[in-house]
Amino acid sequence: MSVDTNTMQNDAFNDNVDQKEIEKFSAMAEQWWDLEGDFKPLHMLNPTRLDYIEQGVEGLFAKRVVDVGCGGGILAESMAIQGAEVIGIDMAHASLQIARLHALETQTKLDYQKITAEQFANDHPEQFDVVTCMEMLEHVPDPASIIKACCDMVKPGGTVYFSTINKTFKAYLMMILGAEHLLQWVPKGTHEYEKFIRPSLLLADIDKTTLKCEHLCGVEFSPFSGGFEITKNVDVNYMLRCVKRV
Ligand code: SAH
Repeated sequence: MSVDTNTMQNDAFNDNVDQKEIEKFSAMAEQWWDLEGDFKPLHMLNPTRLDYIEQGVEGLFAKRVVDVGCGGGILAESMAIQGAEVIGIDMAHASLQIARLHALETQTKLDYQKITAEQFANDHPEQFDVVTCMEMLEHVPDPASIIKACCDMVKPGGTVYFSTINKTFKAYLMMILGAEHLLQWVPKGTHEYEKFIRPSLLLADIDKTTLKCEHLCGVEFSPFSGGFEITKNVDVNYMLRCVKRV
């Protein structure tokens, strides 16, 4: 009986997984740590977002962190290196295997699990100081469900970070036409315009939870520094910091 209940529960928690997305990321998994490969933009972005996260929580050392949709562990591993106790979760087995191998190579201690955000939140309510969910919401059928799960995992007073892509014509030009078709920085089909999310809609979903958005900023590539910078322009890529009400 209890097995049946669990199976039903797992099926319900699996509803918010787009298998095509998982297959797409699984097929690219060997590229995760190739600094010049398909995930080059995420490697370029990582120091900027890591700094942003560290500043918002006054350091990651000894913090309990979950990275939702961790992929090959670019962010998760960098947070563990800062001394956080990190669990990375994703639904792409191949990516998790690459993440585990890389952590072995760099001798970084962190845990990777194949589980949905919803199931993980159900199993570990209010246990984490920090939850990060970066560049993932635009790949799921129901982003609001992930936002709620992130809220459910974090302790009252804890911090949740999201980043995604705005639904603007400029984002279409830069992320799809530019990055995928013209420059071929990332494979064609990596992003779908329909799944881009306006900040107003993301904030409305956040308002349905006990999270409160404390800071919202744009993330822009600077040709001068050759890296990403935090700006006030949320036209394309943006990230935000929320705190769970006590
Ligand atoms: N957060 C990482 C990777 C972003 S790529 C980073 O910013 O570096 C998006 C990731 O979301 C992929 O690894 C993909 O497998 C994962 N993903 C997509 N849908 C998911 C779901 N429903 N549950 C968990 N992970 C998912």
